[in-house]
Amino acid sequence: MRIAMIGTGYVGLVSGACLSDFGHNVVCVDKAEEKIAALKRGEMPIFEPGLADLVDSNVRAGRLTFTTDLAAGVDDADAVFIAVGTPSRRGDGHADLSYVFAAAREIAEHISKPCVIVTKSTVPVGTGDEVERIVREVGAEAWVVSNPEFLREGAAIEDFKRPDRIVIGTEDADAIAVMREVYRPLSLNQAPLMFTGRRTAEIIKYAANAFLATKITFINEISDLCEAVGGDVKDVSRGIGLDNRIGPKFLHAGPGYGGSCFPKDTLALLKTAQDNDVALRVVESVVQVNETRKRAMGRKVIKAVGGDARGKIIGVLGLTFKPNTDDMRDAPSLALIQALQDAGAVVRAYDPEGLEQARPLLKDVEFHGDPYSVAEGADALVIVTEWDEFRALDLKRIASILNTPILVDLRNIYPPEHVERAGLAYTSVGRG
Ligand code: NAD
Repeated sequence: MRIAMIGTGYVGLVSGACLSDFGHNVVCVDKAEEKIAALKRGEMPIFEPGLADLVDSNVRAGRLTFTTDLAAGVDDADAVFIAVGTPSRRGDGHADLSYVFAAAREIAEHISKPCVIVTKSTVPVGTGDEVERIVREVGAEAWVVSNPEFLREGAAIEDFKRPDRIVIGTEDADAIAVMREVYRPLSLNQAPLMFTGRRTAEIIKYAANAFLATKITFINEISDLCEAVGGDVKDVSRGIGLDNRIGPKFLHAGPGYGGSCFPKDTLALLKTAQDNDVALRVVESVVQVNETRKRAMGRKVIKAVGGDARGKIIGVLGLTFKPNTDDMRDAPSLALIQALQDAGAVVRAYDPEGLEQARPLLKDVEFHGDPYSVAEGADALVIVTEWDEFRALDLKRIASILNTPILVDLRNIYPPEHVERAGLAYTSVGRG
């Protein structure tokens, strides 16, 4: 099959590379010239484990190419995926659909035969109808399908190749046949292909993200209770997560959710609900609780250093919103560092992959090349993102090089006894 992927970001590049690995001929298109130039040189514009090798092998096999020329990219395609960004619209929290609509128009203007236009970007319910309207207005012939993406950054290739489910929103038999063919190689892995209406598929994506954000926020509030009354949130998570009806995932207490999806998608879902006179009070609370939590984590660190951070040096380990990615979009570290700087602290930081993306976002932060140099002479060390590299730190060494031996672990990656034995005062989350 000939597939065009419009938008070569975290989702488009991974999806394009995986689809080419299935044997399809894929052309990844992006407006960003430097991104396409880098890919043509064999350089990855993002950090995602396994991606460089996957791209390299499929480029060599002649199944994967890159271009800035959308017209050439979509010409003769059987399926054109839209994987452009849908960020929060400045000021009001609605999803900004301008990139999606611009891409749809351009695709419609350049396809040379009837094909399937597949929206993979996360878009509010009804967007597919508008894309279809644009296609008709241009006078092109195409079926418009919703196929939301559920991959997680950091495990994106595995998620794309072994998904829990593939949701396809269309009721058109021809479009269903094309989509079956796109995903046929995955049927070997028995990935459930779920067909439903286009609007329903669009809602599924937002409902899934809102539910996961709710799970995280729920356990974060329970962790506050554990701290107040003396309980261990890790054991609470395990104790409830072993119940099959609940499940163990997304029950890790921490600094609040962030990243490129949950914050913007929960907001956009609320906007859709408001526009339709529907109250989504659970999601409203989730958004509110998560927002206050970010600053609360700043207060937690300040309390750990004695209640006054003015002039203190705070070392931060981990900046990206989660491990195994370089994505800094809405990372909890941003709000935390701002809160610490507002309180007068001097912040230094290290991240295994995120430094390049973090630099322009973090003013007056000193960046270091490893965890020990961050700790040297600092008044406290704070673990914000649970990279593997931070899971087995030489804690005795950390205790000896810190100015004051204080470790704040916002991801609960250490057993308290272990840290205290190394001579560090330890603050974690929800272990009262
Ligand atoms: P991204 O910002 O990394 O990539 C989007 C790319 O689209 C950019 O490179 C941009 O230059 C390009 N682009 C924009 N308009 C274009 C056009 N008209 N023609 C060609 N290229 C164009 O975004 P992302 O993280 O890959 O997310 C894409 C979509 O997928 C979003 O809707 C997001 O919500 C959704 N999603 C993301 C994830 C994730 O983990 N990042 C997971 C599931 C779904």
